[in-house]
Amino acid sequence: MNYQAILDEIYEEIQPELDKGKVADYIPALAAVEKGQFAMSLTLGDGSVYSVGEASKRFSIQSISKVFTFTLALEHYSRELYKRVGVEPSGNPFNSLVQLEYEQGIPRNPFINAGALVVTDALISHYKDEYNTLEAILGFIRRLTENPEIGFDAEVARSEMEHGDRNLSLAHLMKSFGNFENDVHATVMTYFKHCAVEMSTEELSRAFLYLAFGGTDPISGTAFISASKAKRINAVMLTCGHYDASGEFAYHVGLPAKSGVGGGIAAVVPGKMSIAVWSPALNRYGNSHAGTLALEKFTTKTGLSIF
Ligand code: GLN
Repeated sequence: MNYQAILDEIYEEIQPELDKGKVADYIPALAAVEKGQFAMSLTLGDGSVYSVGEASKRFSIQSISKVFTFTLALEHYSRELYKRVGVEPSGNPFNSLVQLEYEQGIPRNPFINAGALVVTDALISHYKDEYNTLEAILGFIRRLTENPEIGFDAEVARSEMEHGDRNLSLAHLMKSFGNFENDVHATVMTYFKHCAVEMSTEELSRAFLYLAFGGTDPISGTAFISASKAKRINAVMLTCGHYDASGEFAYHVGLPAKSGVGGGIAAVVPGKMSIAVWSPALNRYGNSHAGTLALEKFTTKTGLSIF
């Protein structure tokens, strides 16, 4: 298949969509990001990379980082983790408090904010403090990409904490139900820092390759997680990766994928490749508008959905 020609075609077709939607503005440092930008990269199992647009420009990966933290937590806790967080779609926005109250502080899944906060809390318990935890998360992403220079934007994390009342509320509510072990402020700050990790689509598509190949990166040969756990992470991405638009995403795109409010989406084509796309303007669910459409075009043109 001529992947470069397909990406070039998508790039042409997507242009009229780039200004539609809204950049996330509840994190002031992200509100400053210009609309109209676009990048898409594919990394195949043999290491070949195809890209269009601003594919080496780094952006805030936000909730895409939840896939990395979930992977680490599954590795350390296995089934024990599921006592604290479920794997069921929430049908609610990513930062909703309502369901958490009537489900006694057990978040539906690790990709809504409450679930990701529990995962970060579990990692802090495992690594003993927030500094080791952040180092472990960054170290994991650096090993996945074989790039020691990946880091986070401290200004984005600080700006999010300044407006972090909702995430702090989620954490406090879970603590009141006994489902939070560490200091709320330090844990939420660690969560904001891993959300503020910056990566390009080239780097992200490389980082997700382990999920397309049963937990082992086919380029370096490193086994990051067991095949069975990789399968489960993909299942949770498919059913929960786009919050209350996960059904729609599965319907239109048909790939396990995770979005972030920075406008990125990382997707997995099992046994073949991983794909990352970035365009900062979001639809009403908080997922990249043009990014979602670009992935839909990709699976339509290539026939590469899991269905
Ligand atoms: N850091 C963001 C938040 O907690 C992540 C949300 C997202 O990317 N959907 O609100």
